[in-house]
Amino acid sequence: MRAMVRNTVTALVVVASLGMPGLAKPAAAEPGRAVAWHLLRLPSPGPAQAIGGYAAGCLAGGVALPLDGIGYQVIRPGRHRYFGHPALLSYLDGLGRRVQAAGLGLINIGDMAQPRGGPMNTGHASHQIGLDVDIWLRLDLPRLPRTSRDNLKEISVVNGDTLDLVRSLWTPAQFTLIRLAAEDPRVSRIFVNPVIKLELCRSTGADRDWLRLIRPWYGHDDHFHVRLSCPADSPSCTSQPPVPPGDGCDTELMSWLPEARPPAPKKAGTPSPPRPNPTLPAACQNVNLTTAAGLAGANPW
Ligand SMILES: [Zn+2]
Repeated sequence: MRAMVRNTVTALVVVASLGMPGLAKPAAAEPGRAVAWHLLRLPSPGPAQAIGGYAAGCLAGGVALPLDGIGYQVIRPGRHRYFGHPALLSYLDGLGRRVQAAGLGLINIGDMAQPRGGPMNTGHASHQIGLDVDIWLRLDLPRLPRTSRDNLKEISVVNGDTLDLVRSLWTPAQFTLIRLAAEDPRVSRIFVNPVIKLELCRSTGADRDWLRLIRPWYGHDDHFHVRLSCPADSPSCTSQPPVPPGDGCDTELMSWLPEARPPAPKKAGTPSPPRPNPTLPAACQNVNLTTAAGLAGANPW
């Protein structure tokens, strides 16, 4: 039964994400019927819980991050991906305050999760349970009107030909930002481009504990990705194994450097290849359950 429920949820999500007439439009969705996660415009009611894994789960009782806060602004709000578990909101509130106190400028918060988490229709494989956030490496933007935040350009700090940092774009402020982001006990790991990790390894002195959480990964040359550990209030959250001991500046990092090349920019209009839909935990069926409130189109700002 359990397996059947899971398969039903997956099948409905697959159908919905393929654009099945009647399911793709919020107005045509019926209460009680599963719809694609990106069409759900408001969080589910009830207490917050991260359910399942970072790349196969959902978020109950999600909370919207205020689009402006001390030391940060949410960018691309039109994507409607500024929701998270309260632990993530608390983390970002604290980080913004520390960034402001350090005089680094304003941080730009990119994608978090959809109102109820779940798989996205474009982009990320993870960001599904409200514990992931992308933070841009750009620190040069002023606080912008909300209507001017949707067409901003990310700027890579990695030269794709030489696989060096672009020195004119990399400053001590970015170093400090990533370090501040890592120095919070709630952080499970932070993904950066291998070239950035190499720079952090070279620029850090004896106090190297925080480097352990900084993990090399594909892309991540114009932003870094913070992932929090499962919060205590979420027993169904699937944690990842802890990162290996050590600062990670050794042979493992060297093996990553050939992978450091940023992805080539996509030609306009090129669709992304379809990503297989993950099987979500059965509990996500309740989170997805359509209600009129869940499909209301208005942004909460
Ligand atoms: Zn990310």
